[in-house]
Amino acid sequence: MPAAASNRSGAVSPGPRTTGDRRPAGDPWRIDLRELGRRAGSMQEIDRTAPAPDGWRVELIGVPAGGEVQLHLRLESVMEGVLVTGDLDVPVTGSCARCLEPIEDTLHLDVQELYAYEGSTTEATSEEDEVRRIEGDYLDLAPLARDTVVLNLPLAPVCTDDCAGLCVDCGQRLDDLPADHAHEIVDARWAGLAEKFGTPTTSSPGTPGEIPITEEN
Ligand SMILES: [Zn+2]
Ligand SMILES: [Zn+2]
Repeated sequence: MPAAASNRSGAVSPGPRTTGDRRPAGDPWRIDLRELGRRAGSMQEIDRTAPAPDGWRVELIGVPAGGEVQLHLRLESVMEGVLVTGDLDVPVTGSCARCLEPIEDTLHLDVQELYAYEGSTTEATSEEDEVRRIEGDYLDLAPLARDTVVLNLPLAPVCTDDCAGLCVDCGQRLDDLPADHAHEIVDARWAGLAEKFGTPTTSSPGTPGEIPITEEN
């Protein structure tokens, strides 16, 4: 994966690596809106990498903490606030729900969201949790990205679409085994007995060995 190669346009305050706890602008998820301004129609491109916080995951798959999320977004100033449109490239790791093999992938997710200005009609007429808010001169992309990512993480991720899963008898991955992989289940259970009595396991109706075979009738 090409690391840290994507920050060349630098339209907005660069520095995705700085752990800026002093200045809010140091957090690459927080967008300073002063450059965009409030004039309806003005636009700004955001092209940057931001580290994923911890906890963006569902049971079997998630974004590794600190994983580099690439943002390709366009901010557009509208009457009520700022419209955010674009996409995210999100690294995910997890394990296959069928065979438990590790999975490594990149999710490509579209986003479109209106952030409302404080005091705008949209803000005034919507519930707290219905609309995202602009806080002062800043817009926080992390909650939007988090919701988008978590909603799109598969509950049953697979390593390949046709993953055959694990052998129920030996637990090995079927895709790694020869096509004719099979177990002689009957023998395992009765082989001991057969040895003890020194009789062949074959033939004669009523031998224990017959039971599993006739079961399906
Ligand atoms: Zn699999
Ligand atoms: Zn097996």
